[in-house]
Amino acid sequence: MSERIFLSSPHMGGTEEKYVQEAFDTNWIAPLGNNVNEFENQVKSYVGTPAACALSSGTAAIHIALDLLGVQRDDIVFVSSLTFSASANPVLYLGGKPVFIDSERDSWNMCPKALKKAFEQYEQKGQLPKAVVAVNLYGQSCRFDEIKAICDSYDVPIVEDAAESLGSVYQGQMSGTFGDYGIFSFNGNKIITTSGGGMIISESEDNIKLALKKATQARDNAPYYQHSMVGYNYRLSNVSAGIGRGQMEVLDERVNQKRAIFDRYVEGLKGIDAIELMEELPNSKSNRWLSTAVINPDKTDIRPSDVIAKLQESNIEARHVWKPMHLQLVFEDNDFISMDEDIAAYLFNYGICLPSDTKMTEEQQERVIEIINSLF
Ligand SMILES: *Cc1c(COP(=O)(O)O)cnc(C)c1O
Repeated sequence: MSERIFLSSPHMGGTEEKYVQEAFDTNWIAPLGNNVNEFENQVKSYVGTPAACALSSGTAAIHIALDLLGVQRDDIVFVSSLTFSASANPVLYLGGKPVFIDSERDSWNMCPKALKKAFEQYEQKGQLPKAVVAVNLYGQSCRFDEIKAICDSYDVPIVEDAAESLGSVYQGQMSGTFGDYGIFSFNGNKIITTSGGGMIISESEDNIKLALKKATQARDNAPYYQHSMVGYNYRLSNVSAGIGRGQMEVLDERVNQKRAIFDRYVEGLKGIDAIELMEELPNSKSNRWLSTAVINPDKTDIRPSDVIAKLQESNIEARHVWKPMHLQLVFEDNDFISMDEDIAAYLFNYGICLPSDTKMTEEQQERVIEIINSLF
């Protein structure tokens, strides 16, 4: 059997071990140290934000963001339905109730019309959300200008879940810097990785100071352990941050590689009418973390599961699109707001994530493309 082709796997740049070694040499084997500081500085200057705090995961970053925004028991939070469960779970950690918002067809992200409808419905109930979690799916930025205008008119803050979109650009500005808080993930399959990790960013240095305090057990400034609020143990390890430092050096290269992978799919699959690769919003640039497409059911009887199974025979990994949160058992009692059609369900039923590993050679990708072409 030929060597496995992954959906998206860790891809080291080469200097990561040097920084990890530095942690060992200085004995900063702790959730603080020079690597953590430098990694934060790199991300800050890369995305252009004054304040960032490195954390143990993207999920932790969302949890802290929602906590800082004051989400409490029985509070409503509007969340994109088509996403990974980590966008919504932190709402539950705080005792809140996620209300899921449908996608729009072109960007796959939160539909501004559905969001507006949700605000109108919940305003009538006298129950405005405490926050909105807007996700940038597979590297594609959501229609942030429209989403922000709606949220601003209700004075509701936004957590921008940019876990999948580090390196993407929307209207000339880096992804993650649009929300009241932005969060990144450095999990193993993301565009860069620290083996596990995340970051929270904000325009407000005071807010990030508070995030740091909460992430390190919320110790007051006292000569003994004194606490006046709930804390978490969410800081990033200085060893992991060493990997992050090396990875930041190759982030632009990875974005270019991911985009080249996407372009090769466009070229190689253009003969198949039914395969509609994800568009890119005007005035934006996706990092193309994963190359995704819809297999239009009006044009073929072939379904994503057929393509996934066919590729699997050749030891090639492809996946279904995220199963929307409003279709998950854990959220079965939660409200879902859409226009007429359930777009998130459509994208789940007919969408596919194609192998997007930057370690995949052009020849390997040609093989993927050949197999897909032969199936159609
Ligand atoms: C990966 C991911 C997260 C969570 O990040 P972790 O670092 O795995 O905790 C959150 N939201 C989205 C959309 C993700 O893809």
